[in-house]
Amino acid sequence: MRTDAPESPLPPPLIIPRPQHTLSRKEVEVEALKVLYRLYHAGFKAYLVGGSVRDLLLGKKPKDFDIVTDARPGEIRKLFRNSRIIGRRFRLVQVFFRGGHIVEVSTFRRRSEFEEPEETPSTRDNTFGTPAEDAHRRDLTINGLFYNIADFSLVDYVNGLQDLQNRLIRVIGDPAVRFVRDPVRMLRVLRHGARLGFEIDPQAWEEIRGKGHLIRLCPAARVRDELLKDFRSGAVRPFLELLLRSGLFYDIFPAWEGRLGKGGETRLLDLLTRLDLLMQAAIPLPDSLLWAIFLTPYLEQDLRSQNPEDLREFFQEGAQEAFRSNEIPRQRQEELAQILALAEKLAPLLRQKRGIPARLSRLAAYPEAWLFCQIKEAPLEELVARCGPEEIPTRAPQPKRRRPRRRRPRGRRGPRGPKEP
Ligand code: ATP
Ligand code: MG
Repeated sequence: MRTDAPESPLPPPLIIPRPQHTLSRKEVEVEALKVLYRLYHAGFKAYLVGGSVRDLLLGKKPKDFDIVTDARPGEIRKLFRNSRIIGRRFRLVQVFFRGGHIVEVSTFRRRSEFEEPEETPSTRDNTFGTPAEDAHRRDLTINGLFYNIADFSLVDYVNGLQDLQNRLIRVIGDPAVRFVRDPVRMLRVLRHGARLGFEIDPQAWEEIRGKGHLIRLCPAARVRDELLKDFRSGAVRPFLELLLRSGLFYDIFPAWEGRLGKGGETRLLDLLTRLDLLMQAAIPLPDSLLWAIFLTPYLEQDLRSQNPEDLREFFQEGAQEAFRSNEIPRQRQEELAQILALAEKLAPLLRQKRGIPARLSRLAAYPEAWLFCQIKEAPLEELVARCGPEEIPTRAPQPKRRRPRRRRPRGRRGPRGPKEP
């Protein structure tokens, strides 16, 4: 039964006044500033939080600006005419701006949305919390910092600033407990370590090495979506190195165990270096092409003995086996098989600088298969230039099909009159 006894009090935060830190309002996007100020002028607390504070302190450009407040979703909604509440259990408010820009505002919470509450009754009332609780429910200390619009100070409940200065990835709370509650946090540790080039706290690292299997308790679709973010991060190679070194890789992709070997792992990392170059140059690639690149080292050995007529089936069956635990949608698997099968046919023609016959360039997968060949084979220093938007070929037009002349049924040769009843 839930008691009303207060939980163990959390220690007060470290407050760093504006003159003692480097986060400048000028670097915050105007839409987020508008939201922060309107909440503040309405008498609420309003903090910038998460990746934006972390990245601004590191002198990097944040991807998005998340805001937390003590205003409840209904109150936030009233302050911003152009907004809506989303989420069922954990409601947050999206504020819309011109050009489709969205700023997300959430109320301070006690728990992460991915943790199950211990009890169900009155869950909704219990989701809201204090700023201290909101900081402590987050994943990493460097992601738990607040920027307070009231006085432009930083509010640090979790020793995040020190870890940021020491370039250290540390989990908030005890990693052993926090990873059990939400195993995706293991991925987040490796992701941020890879992206920032920070060291990983040894205790967290040991937990990941020993408890990687916990990841199998998470919905496979969530893990897949997290991995897709890493594919596009521009730092997937260092991320994958950590995934392999910690062993977590084979917990996520059990079918790959014993199959890649050192040679296959190196091959995978080489391909991902190339992918990183393209992502850093902001070249957009569809999911199916990302999976095709990723799958390549898994199938390369068996590919040599394949009959060229059966390539599509070969890749499709390979994908099914390799991703049997990963919820890659069937449609994506079909697309990646088409890309890989066509790329096998294109590669020798491109190598010999021969023309591409229309029967190949007309296929739906042609642009992606062409890109795949570049990613696999272009000299590293030419890769980005070769994959620029002007370089990528479009699919050749389909031949105009002459409509077969419709034969009128015998006996109806004359002009067609109104239908007879
Ligand atoms: P990015 O630059 O990739 O957006 P981010 O840290 O902002 O990095 P998000 O996925 O946007 O990552 O999450 C926003 C914030 O939500 C994080 O900074 C962190 O404080 C919190 N968070 C995200 N995932 C979790 C999780 N699984 N458990 C606890 N807190 C989380
Ligand atoms: Mg973010």
